[in-house]
Amino acid sequence: KAKESGKNRYVLYDKIMNKDFTERMNIEKHLHTAMDNNEFELFYQPQFDLNTNKVTGLEALLRWRSPELGLVSPMKFIKVAEDTHLIIQLGEWVLIQACDFLSHLHKQGLTDMKMSVNISTLQIFQSDFNTKVLKIIDYFKLDPSSIELEITETVLIESFEVVYDKLLKLREKGIGIALDDFGKGYSSLSYLKQLPITTLKIDKTFIDNVSLIQENKTITQHIIKMGRSMGISVIAEGVEHNDQLEYLKKYECDKIQGYLFSRPLPKEEVEKLLKGLK
Ligand code: C2E
Ligand code: MG
Ligand code: MG
Ligand code: MG
Repeated sequence: KAKESGKNRYVLYDKIMNKDFTERMNIEKHLHTAMDNNEFELFYQPQFDLNTNKVTGLEALLRWRSPELGLVSPMKFIKVAEDTHLIIQLGEWVLIQACDFLSHLHKQGLTDMKMSVNISTLQIFQSDFNTKVLKIIDYFKLDPSSIELEITETVLIESFEVVYDKLLKLREKGIGIALDDFGKGYSSLSYLKQLPITTLKIDKTFIDNVSLIQENKTITQHIIKMGRSMGISVIAEGVEHNDQLEYLKKYECDKIQGYLFSRPLPKEEVEKLLKGLK
């Protein structure tokens, strides 16, 4: 009930914000046919390990090229895909594509490469979520430990028990679990202690100006320390400048992901980059 009235209020607010409303309606209208029309594509962004100086993994990031709307940012269409439940189908497509590409890379000799895939809360709530994930990984004959699912805190707040149980089962199979955009939300330490997390991704907002703003410095330093003490790998998101990198190295952050090393790239380009580094 409370959720429903919240949603209505949101819709009303959107109506008042007419421009946003029209944009949203347009996205919704064209999103329904986008999948059948093959308008989605995955880009891949390298994750660079500061201990070994190697790319250890890729994050799959969804791109939508709409003939009517042009290139639409996931920041805009993921929310709509969630509200319309299209994300369930779309998210499954993403996982299949990402696993297919990873298996291709392994066959190309890049045998240690890992893949991170963003998962929406709504996907995890599906009763057959675990079965589907395991089936896809099995179909491509991948080691489950080469796959990491990126989740956000909202999923934990909404339904801790159900989610905890599912994630634990996936973790027991070897699948990695990353907590995305860490530090931005509630980031309850009690969740963190209980959850089978393998990676913490420090949100970009803390990495921006990490060498200038004391608060960002302190938070980043604490997340890195916390990760270390819990045996969780820590990755900094959105690293764009050398001074950020120097700072992260100094505080022994495990990994970086950001434009400084590489932007998200189409699969042919990322494959070329990885082969060049080998
Ligand atoms: P995210 O998972 O936190 O992904 C990181 C975002 O930061 C990506 O934006 C990436 O392109 C961007 N980024 C990486 N390095 C830098 C940098 O140095 N500077 C700047 N300014 N940005 C950087 P993108 O690709 O636009 O995706 C936005 C969000 O959309 C993602 O945030 C994720 O929450 C969501 N998303 C993307 N693909 C999927 C997907 O397949 N499924 C779901 N459920 N969500 C997705
Ligand atoms: Mg992510
Ligand atoms: Mg993130
Ligand atoms: Mg984000």
